[in-house]
Amino acid sequence: MPQQHNNLIGGEWLAGSDYTPNINPSNLADVVGHYTQASAVQLDAAVHAARAAFPSWSASGIQARSDALDKIGTEILARREELGMLLAREEGKTKPEGIGEATRAGNIFKFFAGECLRLAGEILPSVRPGIGVEVTREPLGVIGLITPWNFPIAIPSWKIAPALAYGNCVVFKPADLVPGCAWALADIISRSGISAGVFNLVMGRGSVIGDPLVNHDGIDGISFTGSQLVGGRIAQQCAARLKKVQLEMGGKNPQVVLDDADLGQAVELSVQSAFFSTGQRCTASSRLIVTDGIYPRFVEAIKTRMASLKVGDALQAGIDIGPVSSQSQLDQDMEYIAIGTAEGATLVAGGERLKRDTEGYFMAPALLIDTIAQMRINREEIFGPVANIIRVKGYEEALAEANNTPFGLSAGIATTSLKHATHFKRQSQAGMVMVNLPTAGVDYHVPFGGRKGSSYGPREQGRYAQEFFTTVKTAYTLA
Ligand code: NAP
Repeated sequence: MPQQHNNLIGGEWLAGSDYTPNINPSNLADVVGHYTQASAVQLDAAVHAARAAFPSWSASGIQARSDALDKIGTEILARREELGMLLAREEGKTKPEGIGEATRAGNIFKFFAGECLRLAGEILPSVRPGIGVEVTREPLGVIGLITPWNFPIAIPSWKIAPALAYGNCVVFKPADLVPGCAWALADIISRSGISAGVFNLVMGRGSVIGDPLVNHDGIDGISFTGSQLVGGRIAQQCAARLKKVQLEMGGKNPQVVLDDADLGQAVELSVQSAFFSTGQRCTASSRLIVTDGIYPRFVEAIKTRMASLKVGDALQAGIDIGPVSSQSQLDQDMEYIAIGTAEGATLVAGGERLKRDTEGYFMAPALLIDTIAQMRINREEIFGPVANIIRVKGYEEALAEANNTPFGLSAGIATTSLKHATHFKRQSQAGMVMVNLPTAGVDYHVPFGGRKGSSYGPREQGRYAQEFFTTVKTAYTLA
């Protein structure tokens, strides 16, 4: 019988209304564990616990916070292999990708263990003689954190670590599909020395506890990562209640390949961008924008490279691409391929369901050509291993196509031209720009986020995280 896992509320592990099985997408017969479902009543208890803990935690001092974060980071890093395997088992990333994500999570806690010691203010002269001005940052309060399924340990970490570092208390609602990493993280945090109620885990469906969390009077701010549909709704709810909100949402990231690109490099980074982590990254590229001169060679070379990709059980050695995370995501991927071909695109590789030794959501990475910007497959986020090629005449058209999207998270260019690389970095309407690198793959110590429909509110990660997780106070003193 797989273990039952409960919510962490006010320092106690509490059962919710029922338990749901966490299923391995590489092997549907494998149950990772049973995870409880919080009710709205339990959510309310978690918010109250966090409120009660806030006065003492916010006054606890930076050494205590730094020590706790450092301890959490140390344990994650020490257990990165085990946590990475749990991640691969519940989400479907390959084992190396899972271990990489767990490592990132540990590094994030270590980074914020230092960062909370560095929170600075300003002392300025007043425009009025004899008066001093101090600008300081204080904790925001109790924060609701809502995370998606595709980075089940890194995204929670890059929200929880700064929230705690800057003296806030947390109510954390992970994605329903991947409670395993969330629970493991909560278990580690619960043993870090922080007081009961500072950090609370409420596992449960967004449709049940989402509204009660976002609308709760005891919540001062919401940091959300997920789809544009849910994010937009949360923004409206927060605006109606004048709550601070931070949203990281979807992408439709372009990968430009120019005639002068190194072909091998361009193919490798396009394959990485489009298909690694099963294409289930907000920074994945599903639009490959390729100029005329390199187009025929690029299409042949990427098809050849795709044929060599090994799709299979995420925990098996030598696998390049794990399964799609769920039946509904697989259905969505297949539906978009059908939509694309109905719109006039040509499927030249992959796109079929694959059989493996175990029953799982395996799919061959798909490549569509003859696509144009107006097609739905080039406008809407697919969030699977599906890439579309848009053929363009030259750099100017490539740049225009790259920016021709309601999203603006990440954008990449493959080129040996310094002139075009520099121009693209300046003119791209994305929050993150990559030159001769995949659109996905970012550092943990610098800001992360996008523009247009991809992001709303202050940036996440690095020292920019303080913008959301603190509030500014300006104090005047008569000398
Ligand atoms: P989602 O469906 O929007 O869900 C995200 C989170 O919101 C989940 O925890 C979900 O809970 C919760 N939720 C659902 N309905 C809610 C409601 N009414 N109120 C409050 N919360 C609610 O997104 P997803 O499918 O998990 O993740 C994929 C999306 O995330 C993609 O669009 C991807 O691009 C985006 N993403 C963005 C970034 C970034 O940093 N920009 C990073 C990673 C992923 P349940 O799981 O219980 O439904």
